[in-house]
Amino acid sequence: METLNHETEQKLKELQKQKHACDRLLLKCEWVIGVLSCIVLLAPIVLGSLLPMEEWKRVVLVFSGFIPAMVGICFSVKIEQVAGYYVCEHCGKKHVPTYKAVFLAPHMGRTRYMTCPACGKKSWQKKKVETK
Ligand SMILES: [Zn+2]
Repeated sequence: METLNHETEQKLKELQKQKHACDRLLLKCEWVIGVLSCIVLLAPIVLGSLLPMEEWKRVVLVFSGFIPAMVGICFSVKIEQVAGYYVCEHCGKKHVPTYKAVFLAPHMGRTRYMTCPACGKKSWQKKKVETK
């Protein structure tokens, strides 16, 4: 029985390490998707303002990057929601917020102003991922 518990514990620790490694990789992918989405959004706006063309073509060009950029940004927010966790500034509670809470929260980078599910207070909460 002791050996079985020890083996189970070792496997759980290994799974936890794999999850943390996957979280770190996901957050790197989030960064890449976010940067590409901004380029897709801004490049047509810059080109539309610089190139000579008819007005209707300029409007179509300027708005052409909007939908692809929104898709990329929505996926980035989803990745940020599920990878790692946030920590409440007031009570220190670790939690994974809902997609809506993450999407609608004001933010600076990965620090978001959200309500804690444990104490109900709003605070600037940092994204945390276990390292090693
Ligand atoms: Zn709290």
